[in-house]
Amino acid sequence: MAGTLILVPTPIGNLGDISPRAAEALAGADFIAAEDTRVSIKLLNHLGLKKPLVSYYEHNKVTSGAAIVERLKAGETCALVTDAGTPAISDPGEDLVRLCAEAGLTVTAIPGPCAAITALAISGLPTGRFTFEGFLSINKKSRREHLDSLRNETRTMIFYEAPHKLIATLGDFQKTFGPDRQITLCRELTKLHEEALRMTLSQAVEYYSSTEPRGEYVLILRGAERPAEEGPSLEEGLQQVQLLRQEGLSLKDAVKQASRSCGIPKNTLYEAALSQQA
Ligand code: SAM
Repeated sequence: MAGTLILVPTPIGNLGDISPRAAEALAGADFIAAEDTRVSIKLLNHLGLKKPLVSYYEHNKVTSGAAIVERLKAGETCALVTDAGTPAISDPGEDLVRLCAEAGLTVTAIPGPCAAITALAISGLPTGRFTFEGFLSINKKSRREHLDSLRNETRTMIFYEAPHKLIATLGDFQKTFGPDRQITLCRELTKLHEEALRMTLSQAVEYYSSTEPRGEYVLILRGAERPAEEGPSLEEGLQQVQLLRQEGLSLKDAVKQASRSCGIPKNTLYEAALSQQA
């Protein structure tokens, strides 16, 4: 029988966040595929586990991915871990899951730490509808296209960012979304210096002109205001009044009915209808 790929989430800064189920999956796997084996060995040491490790990361994912799939087909169970958080969310796990799914292998995931969701939850911004945007490209053209595509986005947006790129990103945000848009900058989540800064884009640009960005960041950006629903114009209201009059209603009754159906205040419509008659 073929084996299973298990996505095992790891702490994003606090070792206490490894769950008993995640530890059990690591202990029970035949081997562990890790983004950086040096990082994962620290976690395994913390858990008192010794397991065979293979590396699976951006630059070896084609050959390593194919080898992992062969081992799974032969019946082994593989636990996939990345440096931090949920594998496959803005890290190389995504491709391995696709490979396994294409090969008809079972993929399962243990829920656990994810920087994006942790930041969204404490952002203070609307959480009902959101989009995950990951890292912005360093390529100027695709970065610009990505940001332009979000100009009218009304859902809350989640971005990952590295400290050395934060200032440029805040500048680009301000140019794209304007100075008054609200942002929550979440840094060092679950760590000693965890911080959630809630401000406008211009305040954030100003703040980081004199403060050096430190640590890892998740940026939660408020979506654009929804354009106010345009109600019917006064002209449309008057047309309705005219039609109702033609059906035999008095001016007073026609105004009352038209006002109810199109939401224009009775007095406004009545005065406009009177001045039209004059
Ligand atoms: N798969 C991971 C997850 O589930 O969150 C994300 C991997 S991605 C390569 C790494 C990025 O996640 C960092 O650059 C940062 O934007 C964010 N991140 C990870 N840990 C964080 C933390 N403790 N505080 C703030 N952001 C963090």
